Amino acid sequence: MNVNQLLAELERRHPGEGEYLQAVREVLLSVETVYNRHPEFEKLRIAERIVEPDRIFTFKVPWVDDRGNVQVNIGYRVQFNNALGPYKGGLRFHSSVNLSILKFLGFEQIFKNALTTLPMGGAKGGSDFNPRGKSDAEVMRFCQAFMTELWRYIGPETDVPAGDIGVGGREIGYLYGMYRKLARENTGVLTGKGMTFGGSLVRPEATGFGAVYFVRQMLAHAGDTLEGKRIAISGFGNVAWGVALKATELGARVVTISGPDGYVYDPEGLDAEKIDCMLELRASNNDIVSPYAERFPGTEFHAGARPWEVPVDIAMPCATQNELDGEDADRLIANGVRCVAEVSNMGCTPEAIDRLIGRRMLYAPGKAVNAGGVATSGLEMSQNAMKMNWGREEVDRRLHEIMSSIHHACLEFGTESDGYINYMKGANIAGFMKVARSMAEQGIV
Ligand code: GLU
Repeated sequence: MNVNQLLAELERRHPGEGEYLQAVREVLLSVETVYNRHPEFEKLRIAERIVEPDRIFTFKVPWVDDRGNVQVNIGYRVQFNNALGPYKGGLRFHSSVNLSILKFLGFEQIFKNALTTLPMGGAKGGSDFNPRGKSDAEVMRFCQAFMTELWRYIGPETDVPAGDIGVGGREIGYLYGMYRKLARENTGVLTGKGMTFGGSLVRPEATGFGAVYFVRQMLAHAGDTLEGKRIAISGFGNVAWGVALKATELGARVVTISGPDGYVYDPEGLDAEKIDCMLELRASNNDIVSPYAERFPGTEFHAGARPWEVPVDIAMPCATQNELDGEDADRLIANGVRCVAEVSNMGCTPEAIDRLIGRRMLYAPGKAVNAGGVATSGLEMSQNAMKMNWGREEVDRRLHEIMSSIHHACLEFGTESDGYINYMKGANIAGFMKVARSMAEQGIV
């Protein structure tokens, strides 16, 4: 494989799809050397086949708002690769959603899902609909209209969507209700369901918990612990909440949260009451974090800024792609950061990653760090298939095991000759090689 040639060809075919090309470039550059030791992959053109989605569905989603006006959004499902199992991956509802973003997310999902050890392919979908500021009734009508189109393409053994930005328990409930009605079946066709209709314990917390388990292992491998560490996180959604809960429980101090309006610096660190306040902010539907600073004295709100300027030991971006850039990385390094772990998908720009790896920092990519979310979705699918539920401890134990196995895979494939653990390379090679082998064994399909 010649990476530059392949990328040039992709750029010609998909001009302007910046996020997608960025994600492909990172993976192909990481795997190039190992891949080229396998002439059978080259012969089967595995790289050329893996970078194109199997298929993409695009559909119109018309719905009626509370004032009786007709609204039109666009819905998508990108079924990227199902060599390992049914297509699996979340739905994102956000005004920024476009095909490039969903293709990058779907592509990342293939390798992330491969790392979980569970039999899941990669997919992603969503809409440019933004649930923020919408009433419950509007969200329900939108979800029902979206599912009226989507239901034909998905199924418990075909493609299993879940949540992502803008899609939480409420949206999954409405989507599931409509699917059940149209398909006349009660199955595990979606994950992240409510506990009364097939949801799994620990799924709501799983992305954040898994990320903290992973960071704990990174530190342990470097002879350190989470105890007393100051952590900067971004975002204030479901993922940030899970990280704050677990990190605090394990003795670390989470000193920032952020929203589109800016970030809050809380030198004392979050506690149970403040973590509950994050949930209230989210439920308030305003997309701002400044009320946190008004409520808790001794905290500061920094309008329009990102939390990476605060001196911390650990940075965990939990909001969205490319939210930590080269300058942020320089500032974190200058302030003595020890570890940067992406919890959002592709949270760091390529420049930030270059700086972090160049300086031999502890850095790990989203597809390893945040895989606990989709892994627990896989555990929800297993429980649904068995038509029974595991207890909280059982699910958490399996989540622990999966995160350990991902960490182990990163060590196995990412340890460099000077002993540095290149988690990006490790995660990309481990995930890619598993999918490549599986495609090679299954013929040209
Ligand atoms: N959207 C999450 C992710 O990026 C979860 C996907 C799922 O549970 O299927 O992995």
